[in-house]
Amino acid sequence: MDLLKTLVDKGLRGESPTREEALAVLATSDDELLDVVAAAGRVRRRWFGRRVKLNYLVNLKSGLCPEDCSYCSQRLGSGADILKYTWLGPKEASEAAAAGVAGGAKRVCLVASGRGPTDRDVDRVAKTIEAIKEHNEDVEVCACLGLLSDGQAERLRAAGADAYNHNLNTSENTYGDICTTHDFADRVATVKQAQGAGMSACSGLIAGMGESDEDLVDVVFALRGLDPDSVPVNFLIPFEGTPLAKEWTLTPQRCLRILAMVRFVCPDVEVRLAGGREIHLRTLQPLALHLVNSVFLGDYLTSEGQAGKADLEMIADAGFEVEGAGTATLPEHRRGAAGGCGHAEGSCAPRPDTAQEDASAVPAAARTDLVAVRRRGAGTDLPPNA
Ligand code: SF4
Repeated sequence: MDLLKTLVDKGLRGESPTREEALAVLATSDDELLDVVAAAGRVRRRWFGRRVKLNYLVNLKSGLCPEDCSYCSQRLGSGADILKYTWLGPKEASEAAAAGVAGGAKRVCLVASGRGPTDRDVDRVAKTIEAIKEHNEDVEVCACLGLLSDGQAERLRAAGADAYNHNLNTSENTYGDICTTHDFADRVATVKQAQGAGMSACSGLIAGMGESDEDLVDVVFALRGLDPDSVPVNFLIPFEGTPLAKEWTLTPQRCLRILAMVRFVCPDVEVRLAGGREIHLRTLQPLALHLVNSVFLGDYLTSEGQAGKADLEMIADAGFEVEGAGTATLPEHRRGAAGGCGHAEGSCAPRPDTAQEDASAVPAAARTDLVAVRRRGAGTDLPPNA
């Protein structure tokens, strides 16, 4: 396919495709799927070799959020039977983090439900970061505490936070359909605040919320414009008790196309396979390793992932290797710099061809049996899955 040749050439140069080319990746047929994976895999290997970075989630505060994000099991009025607890202390949080590090995680992601932190919350997180780094000097700590107020990003940076996560989630056009208590611009502002304070920005999306191909491409291009260092790609976990509980639209093939599109648009950025991989990619998970260079180890915030040991086996069986603490994740030209996806806006060549419509799209079957609420790890007496 001329399309794939063009995308590989651009990706190897660190350039992004045009919007039309990105849409064409999503429109490829199942007959072309392995060619798409192989092409995006070449771009992945150019910038990240066969390394896989492991990240570990610690949910510092779970549930009872006043916001109404419709995809979220922790939202206002959620009927999902998730764990609910308020702030973990620094000791408990650092023990959970240590389990992830022992399992091979290079980054620990400290997450708290809520619209955004109070200054007192920032102080609590500062103490937690200190406790984690006291025992694991090399670990990267990413905070994910919601919308930031003035000065909070600087305080988190000063406390040792290496990165800040705040996802854009979906396109600006459809943001109002998934949340009414804050908007797309609020999210963009927080990502910029984190960057302005010198933290590495982590910002991604959730696919499978009923969005169109155009929405997916819009949000990925919006992310490219914001220049995050890492882009987590979540696939909606349709929790019973949330407004999107019946939204089972993804197929494993669709998930792979989405990941390939993100890789092409952000060729030299850390693309992370995030929540929902087990339930939507299912047996095709190993193929996704050819597209992403980063995954979460073990469990998610409120749901269980596959066993951490199974993650490590999958990585080894697929011929990849866990990235060590001494290895830089990003290519040299992106380290410590706002390098975007490696190209100037508008510098991409026009799209040379069109892709086939996907005639094989089959509605996904609901697999509620695969969604398990997290009952172990942080906030419980049971050991974490790492
Ligand atoms: S702000 Fe965060 S925790 Fe609250 S509902 Fe939205 S995604 Fe969930």
